[in-house]
Amino acid sequence: MPIATVNPANGETLKTYEAMGAEETERRLQLAEATFRTYRTTTFAERARLLNRAAGLLDQDQEDIARVMTTEMGKPIRQARAEAAKCAKAMRWYAERAEELLADEVPDGSDVRDSGAVRARVRYRPLGPVLAVMPWNFPLWQVIRFAAPALMAGNVGLLKHASNVPQTALYLEDLFHRAGYPEGAFQTLLIGSGAVEEVLRDERVKAATLTGSEPAGRAVASVAGDMVKKTVLELGGSDPYVVMPSADLDRAAQIAVTARVQNNGQSCIAAKRFIVHTDVYEAFAERFVAGMKALKVGDPMDEETEVGPLATEQGRTDLEELVDDATRSGATALCGGHRLRRPELPGWYYPPTVLADITREMRIHREEAFGPVATLYRAGDLDEAVLIANDTPFGLSSNVWTRDDAEVERFERDLEAGSVYVNGMTASHPAFPFGGAKRSGYGRELSGHGIREFCNITTVWHG
Ligand code: NDP
Repeated sequence: MPIATVNPANGETLKTYEAMGAEETERRLQLAEATFRTYRTTTFAERARLLNRAAGLLDQDQEDIARVMTTEMGKPIRQARAEAAKCAKAMRWYAERAEELLADEVPDGSDVRDSGAVRARVRYRPLGPVLAVMPWNFPLWQVIRFAAPALMAGNVGLLKHASNVPQTALYLEDLFHRAGYPEGAFQTLLIGSGAVEEVLRDERVKAATLTGSEPAGRAVASVAGDMVKKTVLELGGSDPYVVMPSADLDRAAQIAVTARVQNNGQSCIAAKRFIVHTDVYEAFAERFVAGMKALKVGDPMDEETEVGPLATEQGRTDLEELVDDATRSGATALCGGHRLRRPELPGWYYPPTVLADITREMRIHREEAFGPVATLYRAGDLDEAVLIANDTPFGLSSNVWTRDDAEVERFERDLEAGSVYVNGMTASHPAFPFGGAKRSGYGRELSGHGIREFCNITTVWHG
């Protein structure tokens, strides 16, 4: 894949970049290592000052960087602005909380005495340069979600961003430099995915985090495993959205539309499989399909647009193949179901689509639909709803709509996912751990759990 900005709204190549060569990559690795030696000794107050400054700059740049993101990957402009704002908020959250989240832990006095120590504590120390392999779908957020805690913990970052968002990748490096960080604290490596292995095998790189597809995750994790380096993986999802009879159906259907088509349907935590109790199936389906049909599909730079193009031509082809496979095998398209034919929209558009009559044999039942395509399932009772919800290789998040406490308890206990959202849609927040179970990956981002992932958890024992 060439490193280039190609506008998904019209397929036009706007800017191409030469990948960095081995020499430039080496220079940057040296700089990362050298910077870490001093940056690791900075105080939390100093790190917070820098991160708050970066957040302030990001707020100032919001309109410009939002336009860059929309140009590079097609998200509706209003969502791009919201993404930038969310990043600044997370940066401030970590600037304020990191010291407390990484405060020394003092074990119980009797345990300390039992170990023969006069005193002991657990100290969180940084690891060093961490490689972040990131995707294009939330090109700012995915990176900041890693960078804010990593920098506050005293690590330094090396970003290998997706090849279709190079301007956003370069913006991020520039943002941290302008905020006053030392040059090697956060660097962008403009390299293709084929060059990742060599960087990851380099002894100076201590750990890696990857957000993206399962094959990419597997490739990075196996190299890291071979080198005995820690990884955090946030891979795909095919989150269930369960609607039970006691749910507020109007609200459940309205939020279902947003939960499915946010970011043009290209979100790992988008609700993708809608599992509806048979008593309310028709009533929910009618509302949901009406909502999906009413969405305004169009130019992502248009303020009114709710669904823009998919980020890449390949992404649209993959989605089309999933839908075609399902309809060929008996699925019913209640809306959408084939490529838009609107000459005024020459880009990689795909219409909001709802598929019913899904069977286990269809690819879409077990693969992630990365675009505005929803699948509808009918569940006879609570047991069947749980069964269908868990009948997927993924386990990122889950959503349930019910006002019955016993049902809530059952979903909390049994849904195989990294989170359970009750009467609402999944949305990440800096205070809550974020990550998956099963093939959605491992490790956690955000919250105290996220910042501790890339720390050397050190026992200090005094005799
Ligand atoms: P990828 O997983 O291929 O890309 C994500 C990142 O990983 C990019 O930086 C990419 O670099 C890099 N990468 C890809 N392969 C390797 C490899 N073998 N070794 C090291 N790095 C690698 O995502 P795609 O864009 O191809 O999307 C495909 C599917 O992945 C989607 O349809 C969706 O199902 C899922 N996905 C999930 C995301 C999530 O948020 N969990 C985000 C994006 C995709 P480069 O761009 O240079 O190839």
